[in-house]
Amino acid sequence: MSENDFTLVDTEEGKGEKREAESAREDDKEGEYEKVCFVCHRPESVTGPMMSLPNNITICKDCMQKSFDLMAGSGFDYNQIMNNLNMQGFNMPGIQFMNMSDLENGIPPQQKIKKKKKKETKKFKKLDIHDIPAPHKIKARLDEYVVGQEQAKKAMSVAVYNHYKRVATDTMDDIEIEKSNMLMIGPTGSGKTFMVKTLAKLLDVPLAITDATSLTEAGYIGDDIESVVSKLLAAADNDVERAEQGIIFIDEIDKIAKKRSTNQRDVSGESVQQGMLKLLEGSEVEVPVGANSKNAMVPLTTVNTKNILFICGGAFPDLDEIIKERLNKKSSMGFNADLKDKYDKEKNILDKVTVEDLRKFGMIPEFIGRLPIIFTLQGLDKEMLVKILKEPKNAILKQYQKLLSLDEVNLLFDDGALEAIAEKAMEKDTGARALRAIIEEFMLDIMYEIPKDDGIGQVTITRAYIEGTGGPLIELRGQPVPRLD
Ligand code: ADP
Repeated sequence: MSENDFTLVDTEEGKGEKREAESAREDDKEGEYEKVCFVCHRPESVTGPMMSLPNNITICKDCMQKSFDLMAGSGFDYNQIMNNLNMQGFNMPGIQFMNMSDLENGIPPQQKIKKKKKKETKKFKKLDIHDIPAPHKIKARLDEYVVGQEQAKKAMSVAVYNHYKRVATDTMDDIEIEKSNMLMIGPTGSGKTFMVKTLAKLLDVPLAITDATSLTEAGYIGDDIESVVSKLLAAADNDVERAEQGIIFIDEIDKIAKKRSTNQRDVSGESVQQGMLKLLEGSEVEVPVGANSKNAMVPLTTVNTKNILFICGGAFPDLDEIIKERLNKKSSMGFNADLKDKYDKEKNILDKVTVEDLRKFGMIPEFIGRLPIIFTLQGLDKEMLVKILKEPKNAILKQYQKLLSLDEVNLLFDDGALEAIAEKAMEKDTGARALRAIIEEFMLDIMYEIPKDDGIGQVTITRAYIEGTGGPLIELRGQPVPRLD
């Protein structure tokens, strides 16, 4: 914390008080302060309007009433009661007595307290073409947080730049620029949601994240398709204009593929794709304000989805088989025929995806047609997982290191430890998502034990510790004493 975060307080009593009173008066003009009851000390926002007495004293209705009740018809002398009670240190629950002599002694130090600050709502700012960062700048910001996935980051940066350029200039006239809705294909835990979240943060636009599996055709159990827009509206603090420039991320989009063999009505697959067509393209949608579903009690508002950027993401399991099949078939025909299984061992086979493959997977052509930017993310290998552990700006290890540095303890991970964590994560097959859980498991003991001993200056996590065959390397302040247990 910098020095400027603190305000120096004048210790000379008189001066300090005067300044306080002055600043209170100034602030009061702006309505920042509110009155406080002299007796019960509750603020005006709680008690309701106060009565003002001479000498800047304010008393709430309740306390005034209690005083009157006490005095009226009791036959006792009010001052006598109060003095007696005060002398005996008696205190009646809920009632505090005012000592009139306090009032005569002068103005109470401060009869007003600062009002609680209302949450500031972000003022909507229309997008200016000069405010939109160029694609290389967007990518550079993504690079700070997202490891690898170079092609995906590049494709996304360009698409987002073009999209917001179109929004800012409202280029819908003669040459209509197509919407840059995107489809991200990549295994689970490869950073799809993470990339979209990072992007929304750096562009400062509202973001709604939905799961396609929860969506059903209107009228069936589940969220209807338009609920994604009301989520975005909520993310934009019900500011329609802000929401209309936001991003909607629909995860698990592969789950709404056309069901292959079914004789029932497909209310959560093909119908959802059909229902989304209008949204993706741009249409006026009536959405409830401040609620998830429409009913008679909630007001409705209209949101235009024309400028909303839709990003869909999914793992598309078995899509690689479809691609392989197509490629193998092509290469094993004609004069230049290759081996039939030429592509079977190809690593980044998903990169070769075409619209035709997606159609075969079960996405309807109209739906894919409205997601013109298609790109893939790679499954994470050990090396990438190690990088994810230590490199991003908010990397998990950096977070733990920061926490322990507040106790003046240096936390280190040797290379073996990092690899061991990555290997454990690979076994779980959930991409980078497994990393946090693994680290949390073994860091619990460290975070519990280390602050016990003030002498510890450095802790090194080793492969043996991760694998449960040894302990961390502990060094005491001053003299390094390795302790292996
Ligand atoms: P999914 O692809 O299933 O949407 P997520 O984006 O939810 O995966 O990833 C889970 C977590 O893994 C993220 O919160 C992020 O911390 C981490 N992560 C995944 N991929 C990367 C990456 N390429 N770079 C940095 N962190 C990543």
